[in-house]
Amino acid sequence: MSDGSIPTIVTGLRHGFRQGITRPEAWRRGQLEALRRMLQERASDFEAALAADLGKSGTEAQLTEIGFVIGEVDHALAHLSSWMRPRRVTAPPAIQPASARIVPEPLGVALIIAPWNYPLMLALSPLVGAIAAGDAAIVKPSELAPATSAALALLVPQYLDRRAIAIVEGGAEETAELLAQRFDHIFYTGGGRVGRIVARAAAEHLTPITLELGGKSPAYVDGTVAPAAAAKRIAWAKFLNAGQTCVAPDYVLGTRETLDRLAPASAGAIHDLYGNAVRRNPDYGRIVNDAHFERLVSYLGDGEIVAGGGRDAAERFIEPTVLSVADRDSAVMRDEIFGPVLPLVEVADLDDAIDFVAGRDKPLAAYVFSDDAGVRQRWTAETSSGALTFGAPILHLTVPDLPFGGVGESGQGAYHGERSFRVFSHEKAVLAKPLTPDTLGPTIMPPFTGRKDRLVRQWLGRLR
Ligand code: NAD
Repeated sequence: MSDGSIPTIVTGLRHGFRQGITRPEAWRRGQLEALRRMLQERASDFEAALAADLGKSGTEAQLTEIGFVIGEVDHALAHLSSWMRPRRVTAPPAIQPASARIVPEPLGVALIIAPWNYPLMLALSPLVGAIAAGDAAIVKPSELAPATSAALALLVPQYLDRRAIAIVEGGAEETAELLAQRFDHIFYTGGGRVGRIVARAAAEHLTPITLELGGKSPAYVDGTVAPAAAAKRIAWAKFLNAGQTCVAPDYVLGTRETLDRLAPASAGAIHDLYGNAVRRNPDYGRIVNDAHFERLVSYLGDGEIVAGGGRDAAERFIEPTVLSVADRDSAVMRDEIFGPVLPLVEVADLDDAIDFVAGRDKPLAAYVFSDDAGVRQRWTAETSSGALTFGAPILHLTVPDLPFGGVGESGQGAYHGERSFRVFSHEKAVLAKPLTPDTLGPTIMPPFTGRKDRLVRQWLGRLR
């Protein structure tokens, strides 16, 4: 239940921003360092929260959440001065002498709305960008990861400047109340249904938005790669966080011949990763809630089980499962799976695979396993996706200079590294031209003499 404090929180942060607290580079650095300190000193609290919410192992929590954000903080600290520096650009001869610069400035107060699947990383990684850019920010963690949300609400105010950074907990009701306020940027990560709610609310205030959404990210495997190696990369990326990863390979396309080799290789890969008794293996996570568990179990009837299929409702455990799926229109092939169920779908050939992907919503990522340069080139040229990797599912998001984001139904805008700074900044155009000498009167201002007319035409001719 909302307690009516949201407008007061927003007003407080706006006041902090207007006072200029967040602008100095020293404040930004201090906050980034405090964020890192919080993640290091309170790592065990966050690991415990992630284990409670998602059964995440400590190693995985470090790798994909805590350590990931620390990496983003360090990258921002290393590059902040150069990101903040105004950039000189060339003014055209016709207005010389003049100096033109792009000056990055903070936008104001940002709202960051996070989902439950990487509930720490997806709340704090955008915050790194907001702090680096000199914004004040509210972070709204997901109510579906309550332990992590509570840990953030407790610890962030202990480490970061409360005058400029706040955590607001809650679900749909509180988010709706937040969205009724005016923000200077809204950064939303989650599904497309709520993404549309966010976009509509933002339109009321003409607030710019970043939408980090999801979708069905395909993998394609052909006969030029070793099936065991491809299967291991795909299984790792798919079953990480029990499949609840926005960029997890959603399904695999291959010819009959390839799939016949990939199916046993996938079963072998699952065994290599998680052993015989997956359920007792602490490296493997759990499904976030009963509704998602039931939804995922319902997909198991949409194909023939090749590996896995075991489950336990009490623990919300679903074994890493590989499913041979013949019906391309079944629910498992319509919905974003977002769980540990991996359909293998037969295609006739490369054309069929490309048609399959290009004919559907543009995915957040596409993962191609082929050593054939022509095949890689065709995927690059003929399909659109937020990212495309060859042999490296998920790993693109570890490269700070690669934009991370979707296209079309999978989202708009991108972040990580310098882009996170740019997302939360305005690039102000600054032009300075001395009043003397007067170079404009004799050239482009009326009265237009024949000489000016010739000059203007000459100048425009040069531009064309
Ligand atoms: P979710 O249910 O946690 O919702 C996301 C946020 O929206 C939460 O903070 C929630 O409180 C809020 N919300 C829920 N209902 C609302 C409503 N009616 N009005 C306003 N706000 C509301 O997360 P989800 O949507 O289940 O997340 C899963 C989706 O997110 C998947 O599609 C996944 O692919 C996508 N995702 C994308 C990325 C990315 O980086 N692109 C990362 C993770 C997840």
